[in-house]
Amino acid sequence: MTTDKARSLTEQIEASVNQLATETDEARQSELFQSWLNAMAQFSQYSWNNQLLIACQRPAASSGQVAGFHAWRRLGRHVKKGAKGIAILAPCVYRKKADDTKEDSPTIKRLSGFKTAYVFCESDTEGEPLPTLTYGAESGGDELLSRLEWVTEEDLNIILDYEEIKEDGVEGYSAGGRIVIRTSLSPTAKAGVVVHELAHEILHKRDKQPDSVTKNRQQRELEAEAIAYVVMRHFGIEHVACNYLATYKIDSTQLKQSLQTISTTAKFLIAAIDPQLNQNQEAAEAASDPPA
Ligand SMILES: [Zn+2]
Repeated sequence: MTTDKARSLTEQIEASVNQLATETDEARQSELFQSWLNAMAQFSQYSWNNQLLIACQRPAASSGQVAGFHAWRRLGRHVKKGAKGIAILAPCVYRKKADDTKEDSPTIKRLSGFKTAYVFCESDTEGEPLPTLTYGAESGGDELLSRLEWVTEEDLNIILDYEEIKEDGVEGYSAGGRIVIRTSLSPTAKAGVVVHELAHEILHKRDKQPDSVTKNRQQRELEAEAIAYVVMRHFGIEHVACNYLATYKIDSTQLKQSLQTISTTAKFLIAAIDPQLNQNQEAAEAASDPPA
């Protein structure tokens, strides 16, 4: 079951993806791309479809938090009377027995379609002030870097080495199971390069990833740099903007293919870096992942 409103939201998502991919004005295209990356950084707990819907309906929302009615109440705030919500897609899930013929068969969740749910911006609410970010530009990236080192080595089982890299302009590289970062960089710069190289490791290096075969170098670099931008921005650190799409020689099909990859990989890394985020997943109550 998918409601008419949910169907029209799905059409809106497709239309805006096509608009971005086929936009011929390069400056306008870069502007759109950047606003999407900002939404991915800000709303990492939402599915990629819902990130787009929030960015389209409320472009200014990307500097604050959005949450459902009940999630705001748990944060000590309530939605003001008459506030207009942002429409997003919420999955309709039902439970059934894995095997109908067996009495003791475990129950499994099945997706039956989508309905519309509403989230609200912070400005739509009033109440307790919100807690601030754990990491940020003020801490100079040290804390973020040490967390990233842990994720790389303990979580993802990838060796991370700091070395003098002789080649000019190369700040790091990934070699399949091993990442090397230029040792003379600042902790903040190191963090950005680690995320970029991790993106290559996850998307373009592992044996089972067909992506390494089908994507050319330009597309791989765009993905890694956009992911670094989104993850760093999520933690309050400005990373080199990579929004100028014209510098990457990719076509509209490749761009469409990369958008979701950027969103899901950035989301995965943000959740791995920030253990608190894993506990706050319920804040995304009405907005869990629709399938790709
Ligand atoms: Zn790269």
